[in-house]
Amino acid sequence: MVHTEVGGAALNHYETNRENWYTLGASEVIGALKSDSSSGLPAAEAARRLARHGENRLTEAKKKSPLRLLLQQFENTMVLVLLGATAISFFLGHVVDALAIVAIIILNGLLGFVQEYRAEKSLDALKRLSAPTSRVIRDGEPRTIPARELVPGDLLLLESGDRVPADGRLIEASGLEAEESALTGESLPVRKSPEVLSGEHLPTGDRRNLIFAGTTVTRGRGTAVVTATGMGTEMGRIAGLIEEAEEGETPLQKRLDHLGRWIVVVCLAVCGVVVGLGIMRDELILDMFLAGVSLAVAAIPEGLAAVVTVALALGVQRMARGRAIIRRLPAVETLGCATVICSDKTGTLTKNEMTVRQVYLGGRLLNVSGEGYRPFGSFTTAVPAAAGGREITPASDPDLTRLLSAAVLSSNARLVRGKRGDWEISGDPSEGALVVAAQKGGFTPQGLDREYRRVGELPFESERLRMTVIYRRAGADQLGSASGQEWTAFSKGAPDVILGLCASEWREGKLRPLTEERRHEILEKNQEMAGRALRVLAVAFRHLPTFSHQDGPDKVETELTFCGLMGMIDPPRPEAIRAIEKCKQAGLMTVMITGDHLATARAIARELGLLPEGSRSLTGADLERLTDDELREIAPNVTVYARVSPEHKLRIVRALKRNGHVAAMTGDGVNDAPALKEADIGVAMGKTGTDVTKEASSMILADDNFATIVRAVEEGRGIYDNIRKFIRFLLSCNIGEVLTMLLASLAGLPLPLLPIQILWVNLATDSLPAMALGIDPPDPDVMRRPPRAPNESVFSRGLGLRIAYVGTVIGLVTVAVFAYELLLGSGLERARTLAFAALVICQLVHAFDCRSERRMILETNLFGNLYLVAAVAVSTIMLLAVLYVPGLQVVFRTVSMTAADWLVVGAGVGAGGLLVTVPRMIRRPS
Ligand code: ATP
Repeated sequence: MVHTEVGGAALNHYETNRENWYTLGASEVIGALKSDSSSGLPAAEAARRLARHGENRLTEAKKKSPLRLLLQQFENTMVLVLLGATAISFFLGHVVDALAIVAIIILNGLLGFVQEYRAEKSLDALKRLSAPTSRVIRDGEPRTIPARELVPGDLLLLESGDRVPADGRLIEASGLEAEESALTGESLPVRKSPEVLSGEHLPTGDRRNLIFAGTTVTRGRGTAVVTATGMGTEMGRIAGLIEEAEEGETPLQKRLDHLGRWIVVVCLAVCGVVVGLGIMRDELILDMFLAGVSLAVAAIPEGLAAVVTVALALGVQRMARGRAIIRRLPAVETLGCATVICSDKTGTLTKNEMTVRQVYLGGRLLNVSGEGYRPFGSFTTAVPAAAGGREITPASDPDLTRLLSAAVLSSNARLVRGKRGDWEISGDPSEGALVVAAQKGGFTPQGLDREYRRVGELPFESERLRMTVIYRRAGADQLGSASGQEWTAFSKGAPDVILGLCASEWREGKLRPLTEERRHEILEKNQEMAGRALRVLAVAFRHLPTFSHQDGPDKVETELTFCGLMGMIDPPRPEAIRAIEKCKQAGLMTVMITGDHLATARAIARELGLLPEGSRSLTGADLERLTDDELREIAPNVTVYARVSPEHKLRIVRALKRNGHVAAMTGDGVNDAPALKEADIGVAMGKTGTDVTKEASSMILADDNFATIVRAVEEGRGIYDNIRKFIRFLLSCNIGEVLTMLLASLAGLPLPLLPIQILWVNLATDSLPAMALGIDPPDPDVMRRPPRAPNESVFSRGLGLRIAYVGTVIGLVTVAVFAYELLLGSGLERARTLAFAALVICQLVHAFDCRSERRMILETNLFGNLYLVAAVAVSTIMLLAVLYVPGLQVVFRTVSMTAADWLVVGAGVGAGGLLVTVPRMIRRPS
C-alpha cells in the first residue's frame, strides 16, 4: 500500500484496520502511520493530527452547568418556605417587605453560587495541574507533553511505572512488562516485545507487541508508535462513556453535614417556640410565621459546607503555588494532623546533584576534583603530595581506563549543554555523575559508541540494586577481550550486591582472582567511603560467549570482574535541614527511608539533624528479621531506614500507623504505590515519580522537595484553624440571633428584630466576615504546637463552650439594649434599631476575636487579614446606610440613631466585651 498523504486518508484506513497491527512489522506500522522510527513526528504534523483526531482522552461525564449550580442555591426547603410566606405577605399588602425579602434571598443565593462556582473552578484547575504527561520523540528530540496531546504516529517512550496513555505498536523493548488487568482481567504482568505475531483475532492479552491505553508498565523500558488515541483505543471501545468518579466529601465536611442537621432541628424547635409565644401574645399569625421562618433561614448555617469547600479549595490553590499539588481534598485535613513524615532521601532530602569525589580501584584510592556536572577535573592519589600523592593520567592507567569506560557503558545518562550553555544531565543523576567523572578522564559515550553497539539491557530496579548493559563490539576491543568473545556486559550497582556476583578483579591491566581477603578489603573501603556520606557504586564487566534477548540476570550477571568503586556526594538540601528543625518544633517525626547503604544514610542523616539522641537506624535486612509486632514496638524510635525495598516501606507505614501515628510517605517508583496507598497521606514525586505512584498518591510534590511537604503540613494546619475560626464566628452569631428572639419572647417582649432585619444580618454581617476568616493567614504558632488528634471534634479544646458562651453574650447584649430602650419609653422602632445595631456591632467585633484561639483580640494584629478588615468595613458601611439612608429606613423600619443612642449601643457592646474577655484573662495560664 502506498501512502502519499500525511495524516490523511491512509491513516484513517489503517485506523479502521486496527485488528491488524500486531501482524505487521514495526517498520510497516511506522510507515503506515507516516511517522519516523528515529525522529518521530514533526511538531506541525502532530498539531494537524491533534486537530483531526481530537484530544487523547475518554469522553467525560457532563459537568453541572453554572445555571444548575445557581438554581441549586434556591432548592433549600427553608428558603422555599420563606418564599411562600413572603408571597402570602405580598398579597396581603406588605409589598415593600416582600420585595426586600426576595431581594435578600436572591443576593444570598448569588453569594452562595459565587462561592461554590469558585470552589469548583479551583478544583478543576487542580485537576489540570496533576494531569498526566507522556514522553515522546518529536522533531528528533525527546519531549514531555500532556498525555491528552498524543496523536497516532507519535513515538512514545515507556518505562517502568508509566501509565500507558494510548494504544501503540512496540518498536523496541528491553525487559518490558505490562499489567493489563483493566483490559484483560489478567492481574499478572505480561512480557512485551516487538516481534511480529501471526494469527487471526488474537485475544487482547496475547498481542504481546501491542501496548494498550489504561494499562501500566511494571518493568523495563520500550518505545512504541501510537496507533490509536482517546475513544479509538481498546479502552475507549470498552469504556464507552466513562463517568468520572464523584469526588466524595471530606471527613470534616461529613461531620459538619451531620452537625448541620442537628442545628436545623434545634433552630426549628426554637423558632417554633418563638412563633408559639408570639401567637399567645396575640401577634398576627402571618407576621410571626414570617419572623420564625426568617429566623430559621438566618440561623441555619446552610453555607457552612460551601465555606468549608471554599476554604479547602483556596488553601489547595495556595499549596499548588507552593508546589504541593493536592489530588484528594481530604488530604488537606489529614495533613493538618500528620504526626510523622517518612521521606525518601535522594532528591527529596538531598539535592540529587551527584558528583563523584573518590574512586577506588586496584587497591588505590583516588580523589576526583571538579564541581557539579562540569566535565573538567583531575584524578590524584588520595595521599598528600609529600607522601607521594600525584596526578594520574587516566588514558595511560589501564585500571582507570577500564573503570571509567565501564562506568559510562553501564549507564543510560548523557551529559548535555543546557539552553544557557550550562552542563546538564539527561537521565539518572547517579549515572550522570559517573558519565561526568569518565569525561574528566577523556571517556565519552560518543567515543565509546564507535566501538560498542548496545544490544540489550537488564534495567535498574530498586529491588535488584544494579543494572547491566550488554554490547556487541563493533571492531577490535581496546579493552582486550579474548577473540571469539563478541559480547560484553557492563554492570554497576550497590557494592555489596555487585561484589557478590564477582569472581575476579581487574587489577594492573589483568584479570585476577578475587580472594576473600580482597573482598573484605573492598567492602571495608566501601564502608569507609559511605561513612564520608558518599553514595558508592561498584562497576564490573563480563565478556559473554553468546547472548540472546531471552537471557536474564542469572545468565548475564554472574562471574563478573570487579573494576572498582566510585563514590559520589549528594549534598543535603539546606531548606530540608530547616524544615526538619521546624518539624521537631511542630511535634512531627521525620523518618528517612533510602535504598542507599546504611553508612551513607547515617552520615547524611547526621548532616540533616535526623539522628537525635536515642534514635535508631535499621536496614532492610534488619526489617526482614523483625516480626510485625517487634517492628511496631521499635518503629517510633527509628529515624533512618537504609537499603530498604518498596515492600519494606509498606511494613514501616503499617508499624507507624499501629502506633497511632498519622503518616505521610513519599514514593516515586512503581512499587512504592502500595505504601503510598496505605499511608494516610501518600506523597508522589512530581519530577521523578511514575504515573502509578502519582495515581496512588493524595499529594504530588512539583519540586520533589521535602521542605514542600512541611509547608503543606503548615498550610493543612492553617486551613483547619481557619475552618474552626469561621465555624466559631458563624455559630456564635447564629446563637446570638436565635437567643435574641427567644429571650425576648420568654420575657414577654415584642420581637426585637423584624424578619427583614434578621435576613439582612444574615446576609451582610455573617457571610462576608466568615468568608474572610476562611482565608486568614496561618497563625504564627501553627508549627510550634503538637499535631491535633485526627478524630477530634471541631468543637474540641473548649471551642464548643466558647461558641455557646459568646453567642449567649451577644443575645443578652441585644435584648438588654432593646429592653432598656423600651423601658425608657422610646418607640418600638427606635428600640429595634438600637438592638439591630448592637447585634451587628457585637458580631463585627467578634469577627476579629475569632482570628486567634490563644490570643486576646488586642494581642492580634488587627490588620493581619485585610480581607477581614475590608469585609467588616463593607458591613459597617451597609449598617450605616440602613440606619441613615431615608429610603432604606422605610424598607428596614429603622430610625436615625443619635449620639445618645450610640452611647447606649456602645455601653452594651462594651459590657459584652468585658463579659467575654474577663473570664479569659482570669483563666489564662500565666
Ligand atoms: P531514595 O533515597 O529516594 O529511596 P535511593 O536513590 O536511595 O532512593 P535507589 O535509587 O533505590 O535508592 O538506589 C539504591 C541503591 O541502588 C543505590 O545506593 C545504588 O547502590 C544503587 N543504584 C542506584 N541507582 C543505580 C543505577 N542507575 N544503576 C545501578 N545501581 C544503582
